[in-house]
Amino acid sequence: MTVELVCVGTELLLGNIVNTNAAYMAEKCAMLGLSMYYQSVVGDNPGRLEELLKTAKNRSDVIILCGGLGPTQDDLTKETAAKVMKKTLVEDTRARQEIEAFLTKRGRKITENNWKQALVPEGSIVLYNSNGTAPGIIMEEENTRMILLPGPPNELIPMFEEQVYPYLNKLQPEIICSKMVKLCGIGESTAETEILDLIEQQENPTVAPYAKTGEVHLRLTARAETKEKAFSMIEPLEQELRKRFGSMIYTDKEDVTLEMAVAKLLSEHHLTVTTAESCTGGLLAGRLVNVPGISENLKEGYITYSNEAKEKLLGVSHETLEKYGAVSEETVLEMAKGGAKAANADICVSISGIAGPDGGTSEKPVGLVYMCCYCKGKTYTERNIYTGNRSKVREYAVASALTLLRKAILKEVE
Ligand code: ATP
Repeated sequence: MTVELVCVGTELLLGNIVNTNAAYMAEKCAMLGLSMYYQSVVGDNPGRLEELLKTAKNRSDVIILCGGLGPTQDDLTKETAAKVMKKTLVEDTRARQEIEAFLTKRGRKITENNWKQALVPEGSIVLYNSNGTAPGIIMEEENTRMILLPGPPNELIPMFEEQVYPYLNKLQPEIICSKMVKLCGIGESTAETEILDLIEQQENPTVAPYAKTGEVHLRLTARAETKEKAFSMIEPLEQELRKRFGSMIYTDKEDVTLEMAVAKLLSEHHLTVTTAESCTGGLLAGRLVNVPGISENLKEGYITYSNEAKEKLLGVSHETLEKYGAVSEETVLEMAKGGAKAANADICVSISGIAGPDGGTSEKPVGLVYMCCYCKGKTYTERNIYTGNRSKVREYAVASALTLLRKAILKEVE
């Protein structure tokens, strides 16, 4: 089964908005095991859209369109797609009622052009929209299926998730199941090298690496007649990955984040933690606070941007700062020890670095970050040089700090 994406909107062509819908839908289609060979962006121009849809119809089994389902004159996706599929538009009573209810509930005035959105191609499947006024549409023909979705992501994503994904899944004779294994403390190229033999010989199941900031995610996918069979095919591959990556794997659950995995360890081992941050300015504490229930383990954190603050709040010695500088192993070591003492915590993670764009020297370039984890008397320090802009350097530093924190806890409890 082949699927093709067509995103409609002049804003997309001009670069005014980023085509996040395409990225989202492409990933979902890959998860479903559908082959996607083409993706296109076309402006709000019915002639060019018609031409593109005729081409798509000749080469793909399923065509998914997004955007241009609005009430205004330049929203012509539905009219054009219906023309290509040779369908006439008729009013859908439920769609009309839902549009009326949606607008009335929000106190919005109904204008005549709103009723344009209640028109659907004859005989189509209507995907009702609880987050907006434009219903989605599925048109079926012997060799082609055309799926029309609204452009706003807050409408498209739930509609795809709840209605389109199950529809596409049913078209497949086999079920596709996947599992995400998430790694920290390893780069994408190293991770890929470690599993190159598995990637090269793969057929079913497959393993695909995705690079994330400071993490690598591996998606394991299997195709089988039943869910049970698909997962039993994934199992030996997962065991093989566990053998190769060991404790670098922090979860095998899609919705578990690195901070959630760290928070779980802190909670299971009744450990308290604090943070002492310079260049990341609270981002590390922020990641930990993403996790509900962290207040049991994180009581306070320090943002010590200036040397004075490092001395005053963390007790870093003036001599250390003078002699080695704020961005140094010696300083982060004292920050971590001082932070743990000041907060009376079992653990403290400290970070100090040069996020840029200015402030780098040949000896201490932009992107250089030192960090230390003090954990019940033991210390673990790390020096990294990250590439990227200021926010990327800070994000990478936080991911490394969470990884270092996790490593320290695992050592403590092993
Ligand atoms: P509406 O019913 O709100 O008029 P529509 O289906 O006509 O929606 P568009 O008018 O094409 O959709 O786009 C509405 C908004 O949705 C855009 O301004 C943009 O914010 C967002 N959007 C549209 N297409 C995409 C896309 N491919 N990726 C991300 N966002 C998009």
